Amino acid sequence: MQKLRDAVHELESEGGLDPRELSSLIDRLQAVLCRALYEGSKRGDHLLTGQTTCAWVATTCRLSGPAASDRLCVGEQLEAMPQVAQALGSGEIGYQATSVICHFRKKLREDLRELCDEEQWISHAKEDSIKDLGWLADHVRYVLDPDGFDHGIEEDWGKRFLSISESGGMFHISGVLDREGGAALESAIDGLAKRLTEDDIRSPKQRRADALTEIVYHAMEAGSLPRHNRVRPQISVSTTIEGLTGELGAAASELHNGMPVSSKTVQRLACDGLLHRVLKADSLVIDVSRATPTVSAAQWRALKARYKRCCFPGCDRPINWTHPHHIEFRSRGGPSTMRNLLPLCFYHHRLVHEGAWQVVRTGEGLRFIPPERPVLTRRRWGERRRAV
Ligand SMILES: [Zn+2]
Ligand SMILES: [Zn+2]
Repeated sequence: MQKLRDAVHELESEGGLDPRELSSLIDRLQAVLCRALYEGSKRGDHLLTGQTTCAWVATTCRLSGPAASDRLCVGEQLEAMPQVAQALGSGEIGYQATSVICHFRKKLREDLRELCDEEQWISHAKEDSIKDLGWLADHVRYVLDPDGFDHGIEEDWGKRFLSISESGGMFHISGVLDREGGAALESAIDGLAKRLTEDDIRSPKQRRADALTEIVYHAMEAGSLPRHNRVRPQISVSTTIEGLTGELGAAASELHNGMPVSSKTVQRLACDGLLHRVLKADSLVIDVSRATPTVSAAQWRALKARYKRCCFPGCDRPINWTHPHHIEFRSRGGPSTMRNLLPLCFYHHRLVHEGAWQVVRTGEGLRFIPPERPVLTRRRWGERRRAV
């Protein structure tokens, strides 16, 4: 070990290293580590700390649970696959490819493991990408051990989860989906996450997030989601006249869960939705009006007949994926008339309200005018000034 420490120390101060050779050396060392960990687990080293083998590896090597279990699997399987171990040791194949082969063998039923042809796998590992090798392993496993494959699918299904949590005014989503659900979600999101226009400045990650919001709105607006406590899923906002017009000093408008939202967002949501007027006196509700839609079904049908897609120049989001926007905002008294309405997709509707783009009717045409943005320039360290 001292020799290895010295060698690493020497490498640290050396320049012009060949990354390919270095990567191959790291892969070989990784294999040595896997074997050492597997031997340790066989000796029962983990019992000294009262941990499971996987937790012991994770703590010892400061790894995540899945990475720890990967190292143990490779250590165990390399013992039974001397040719693969040799190919990794000589740098013919990399660690990741070795790991795919090891997991493939481990997942096979014990009596089928002798069918794992090391030579063939080494030759595939040399030629194929890691992704292709993984696919091949899945397909071969399906042919060799269909029952085991089905069992694996059910095991994967058991691991699915989705968690949604709110913190600091943002929602955090994390989850794992099985191959069918994941492929369906990916396909639905990919279809909506393309750039809408040439100057769509959103990053791919932002476009995927917007696509998910659009899908959710679309499902809610279709009215086909099951009711909960006799109410279909929806978002509702409580506001006051002052809050809606964004007057200084007005109390913030609130979502149904109590989270405050900007007056610009409320103005956007007021373009399309059901409106209840609640009359209060000394904070007591004294009257609640019937819900009236901002845009009637007949007006929406007329909009659909007139426009086929979002009105933002260059945007081809179909009409059924748009919302009616009031050119003269509702909060400023804009009427719900055909001349004052036009369909905008979620992103462009947001751009007009929150992004301060202006829509102006010129004769029969429309003009979308971007806002004049104040540009922050740095004068000196820590000091900023505004320039237009
Ligand atoms: Zn609007
Ligand atoms: Zn659009």
